[in-house]
Amino acid sequence: MPQVYKGVQFIPGQDEFIPDSHVYLIGNPESGDLSIVDAGLTGKGSYKAHAILELGVRPEDIKRIIMTHTHLDHIGCLAELQKNFPEAELWVHSLEADLLEKGDDRAVYGMEMFKSMCQMQFGLGNSAFKFKVDRRLEGGETFEIGGMIWDVVFIPGHSMGGIALYEPVAKILIPGDVIYADYAIGRFDLYGADASRLKDSLDRLAKLDVDILLPGHNQIMKGVPADYIRRTAKMWEPYLT
Ligand SMILES: [Zn+2]
Ligand SMILES: [Zn+2]
Repeated sequence: MPQVYKGVQFIPGQDEFIPDSHVYLIGNPESGDLSIVDAGLTGKGSYKAHAILELGVRPEDIKRIIMTHTHLDHIGCLAELQKNFPEAELWVHSLEADLLEKGDDRAVYGMEMFKSMCQMQFGLGNSAFKFKVDRRLEGGETFEIGGMIWDVVFIPGHSMGGIALYEPVAKILIPGDVIYADYAIGRFDLYGADASRLKDSLDRLAKLDVDILLPGHNQIMKGVPADYIRRTAKMWEPYLT
């Protein structure tokens, strides 16, 4: 498993016919205070838990799982990770936490057609993703966790309550599905999405000084050009009004 930076490990997703989100493990190993960012698709939890334990991490060192958002390709294997890391709290933005605690499927699947396809594929009933949220995030928080500083940035648009995590020392951004490498951005046609909010969120991210971009899918970027997010936002602007 590649170490992206001291205190940031990258466990690549294993896409199949549905994408599986990447997982990032954040926190300095010696701190005993580690956080998992996102989980992944249904069935994709055990190899990730295994990869984490192979680093020599003790299960009780995983203090929390922080969700960038609650789409199926990020939350599908949350229960599998929770089984491996039973002491981990669940941190989610308040807007999606409300839906998650009710077992509202709309925020998970995004659209009816995808829901029926996945329910059939994975043998899932309604409200299969109902979780108790331990901490509701709003955006604007700064956490000192695992010997690092992480800011929470509220970036709705791809989903209702999307968040990014930003580490200002090494300039690391974990934006979920809001922006990717190759000038790509997240889709904005699903339940809870909003094109103009996505535009504002990209503008918010463009103000950050980012050197390492760790998105939810596809390539990660090191040595991100100074205007990369700004240019990506500009490119997509005509579609986001
Ligand atoms: Zn998503
Ligand atoms: Zn995703």
